[in-house]
Order: sequence, then C-alpha cells, then structure tokens
Amino acid sequence: MRPRSLAPAVAVVGAGWAGLAGALALAEAGLRVTLFETAPQAGGRARSVTLATPLGPIAIDNGQHLIVGAYRQTLGLLARLGAGPLLRRHRLHLVSDRGLSLRAAPLPAPLHLGWGLLRAGGLDWSERMAMLRMMRALRRARWQVRPNETVAALLERLAQPSGPVSKLWAPLCVGALNTLPAHACARSFAAVLRDTLGAARHDCDFVAPDAPLGALLPDRGLARLRALGATIRLRSTLRELRRSPSGWRLDAAEEPFAALLLALPPWSAAAPLGRLGVDTSVLQRFVPEPIATAWALWPAGEAPRLARWSMLEEDPQRARFGQWVFDRGIIGPARVAGVVVSVASRIADQPAQALADGIAAQLRDAFGGPAPSAIRIVTERRATFRCTPGLQRPACDHFGREAPGLWLAGDYTWPDYPATIEAAVRSGQRAAAGMLASLAAAPQPQHGHATDVPA
Ligand SMILES: Cc1cc2nc3c(=O)[nH]c(=O)nc-3n(C[C@H](O)[C@H](O)[C@H](O)COP(=O)(O)OP(=O)(O)OC[C@H]3O[C@@H](n4cnc5c(N)ncnc54)[C@H](O)[C@@H]3O)c2cc1C
Repeated sequence: MRPRSLAPAVAVVGAGWAGLAGALALAEAGLRVTLFETAPQAGGRARSVTLATPLGPIAIDNGQHLIVGAYRQTLGLLARLGAGPLLRRHRLHLVSDRGLSLRAAPLPAPLHLGWGLLRAGGLDWSERMAMLRMMRALRRARWQVRPNETVAALLERLAQPSGPVSKLWAPLCVGALNTLPAHACARSFAAVLRDTLGAARHDCDFVAPDAPLGALLPDRGLARLRALGATIRLRSTLRELRRSPSGWRLDAAEEPFAALLLALPPWSAAAPLGRLGVDTSVLQRFVPEPIATAWALWPAGEAPRLARWSMLEEDPQRARFGQWVFDRGIIGPARVAGVVVSVASRIADQPAQALADGIAAQLRDAFGGPAPSAIRIVTERRATFRCTPGLQRPACDHFGREAPGLWLAGDYTWPDYPATIEAAVRSGQRAAAGMLASLAAAPQPQHGHATDVPA
C-alpha cells in the first residue's frame, strides 16, 4: 500500500455534514486531507449550541433536526463512528393537537402504512380512503409527478379532502421541504413519501438522539479525521481559489492541492466560484428560507405532560406560529421542548416577545400548564433552500470541464431531495467517490506533491 506521505493532497472546504462525510471518505481511502471551515466549530447548519438561560447553560442544537429511518447513509456513518448508542428508534406514530393519530402497524411494507392509514384517528372513513388512494396512485406512478407541479396542485389532482391536507399533508410538506404547499416542489415531496411512508417499515421510524447534534457527526468526525492524519483548519475562510501548474491554490492555504471538494451552501459557493470565472447561475437560483426553533424550558420535574413529538395547528393570524413540537427530555437543570417554526420568512417582522408569547399559548393549548419559565428562540436565516418546482440540482462534477479537479457537495446537489442531513451526507460521499475515481485514473505523481496540471 502507498504510504500516506506519497498520497495526493486534497482540500475539503466546509465542515457541515456534507464536507465531513466527504472528508472522512477521502481520508479513509488514504488521501492527505485538509479540511477548511470558516466557523470555530464543525456541523454547519446542523450543529450544537449552548444557550444561556435563566435555568443555567443548556447544550442543545441550532434547530430541532428530525432524523428518520430512511437516512441510511447518515445512520450508517453514525454507526461506523460509534454514535449508534446515542440514537433511539421509534416506530412512526404521528399525533397532532387536532386529534390526528397515525401509527405504522407492525406489519411488512406496504401493509404497515395501509393498515395505519385505515385506522388513523381524527379522520373520517372517506378521508382515510382518499389518503390510501393517493399513496397507491403515487406508487403506481413510480412516485413521478407532473413537470413543475406544486404540492398543492398534486394534492388537488389526487383529490385530497381538506382534513388530510390540513392535518397531515401540509404539515409534512412544511416540515420536510420548509416551503408552503402552494410553492413547494411535488417531485421532492413525492421523493420524501417514497423513501419514508412508501418504503420499508423501518424507513419511517423517527430516530431521536440522546445528545446534541455535535456529539453525533461533528465531534466524532473531526476526531476520526485527526486520527487518520487529516489537517483540520477551523476559523479558516475560503475567499479565492485558482488553478496553478502545481494544482489548486486557496487563499486560505500555502500548499497546492491535487483536487478540491467544495462543500458549501450554494449562496456561499457562488462568490469564490464567480471569482474563478465560471458560470455560477445554477447556484444563484437557490433562495434561502429561514427556520426558527423556540426552545421552551421548565425546571426539571415541573413541565406539563408533553407528547414525545406532535404536530401543532399553525395559524399565524392568531399568533400560532409553531408546526411541530419535540420533547427533548431533561437537559442539565431543565426540561426542554423544541417548537419548530418553518417557512419563518413569514414571521420575520414579529418581535421576539410576540413569538415567544404565541409559542407559550400553543404549548398551553396542546398540553395545559404550567407555562415554560423561559423560551429561547434560535433563528437560522439561511436554514434551507426553498424547495420549489424545476430547481436544477448541479451534479458533483458540474464544473468539471471548466475546472478539472473541482467537486461540489452539499444538500442542494442531491437530486430530488429537499435540504436534509441525508442529502448532505450522500452528496459528500458521492463527490468523494468521484474524486477518488478521477485521481486513480490520473497519472501518479512521483513524489508526495500535488499533480501538476495546466493552468
Ligand atoms: C434550523 C434547522 C432545522 C433543520 N431541520 C432539519 C431536519 O429536521 N432534518 C433534516 O434532515 N435537515 C434539517 N435541516 C437541514 C440540514 O441541517 C441541512 O440540510 C444540512 O445540515 C446541510 O449540510 P451541508 O453540509 O450541505 O451544508 P452546511 O451545513 O451549510 O455546511 C457548509 C459549511 O461550510 C462553511 N462555510 C461557508 N462558507 C465558507 C467559506 N467561504 N470558507 C470555509 N467554510 C465555509 C459553513 O460554516 C458550514 O459549516 C435543518 C436546518 C436548520 C438550519
């Protein structure tokens, strides 16, 4: 086997879940990896934060993240890194404050869902049959929808009554795509249904971590990378990149690299790529959409009886902003629940106090008293891209012709998925595989330096 000192040196820029997954695959294949990240910590849009609260500091996430059984690459990676024991799997049981109850039956697919839909609480017989017919129609169509169809148009075409739309399909769409049904991409919605409710029984499991996100991939990923000899450069921002005869050069580094994996969100990748002189119009079509997460805190032992998770009826006109609530259990001195406000561009002009009051009222209506002793709101202004119809996802080698050796990863590069952790992890692993194959096909350098390439 080739000693690592003679292996090509490659750079990964961005230590979100895409960059970490890609860097791990490259380092495990024996390459000399340098990982650059502008922030002081890894994790990107799925990272841990420490909140200062009246009950003391609380180690939690930048936003409530739902991981489901269909996240096979993510769960496989976490298992390989030893994070498996931190994850608890729960059979799908969706409940809402409007009385919906949908539980996957302990039967093989698709009976688990068929039986679950037929017995769903909070819907009448004709509504349950309509949902079953929609899932059957989508499966028969191999989860293909009409070109440029929105989720609202799909639901109408498949004759969904208002009950299932408002109680299930719309909250699922808003939660999974962070886009309202009237604007959301039906193709991505169908892909989500295909890989969760429409797939094997365990694919729609909810997977709840017993720890903040940082303890899953970011901390373990960095530790593994260091053990593999990778160089980690936090607080290191890429602004300029160029190709030189000795390889890729980044303003953030002295040394040249044989190849480069850009694992940045589209709005961050566009600037350095634009300066390189390539056409970045494919990146500029992605529009960021915020998500706000309201962390509600009670002194441990003083919280009302919370559902493990529940959909909430949203009605921004009545200051009901949250769509989902997740009980995170006891963290340090507090009992913590996360209320998710997706498509938060709609509440951008709400004062924080009005938001907190609305969330407290929603929690009281859903679970009774006592009121939380504090609510901390974390708003990620660029949480996801708006998942609208016809949004072209660039391939990982999109710039390969103009800029050989440059690879793209990131949630926005995975075809047909909305912005998710799984899309990020898959994209990082796919780009790493592409880079490894192309380096293996290239002539081997005689020494440990990067391959010379024409400028
Ligand atoms: C509040 C919230 C809730 C969410 N909920 C869910 C959920 O329930 N389920 C789910 O699956 N997904 C959810 N997501 C989406 C998920 O977090 C993202 O899809 C995923 O984390 C994206 O990973 P990424 O690696 O593609 O990008 P990022 O996480 O954005 O990683 C890019 C990294 O590049 C760094 N960077 C940027 N510019 C530079 C530069 N010039 N130089 C060096 N480094 C740079 C950034 O700091 C960042 O660390 C949520 C996101 C948010 C914010």
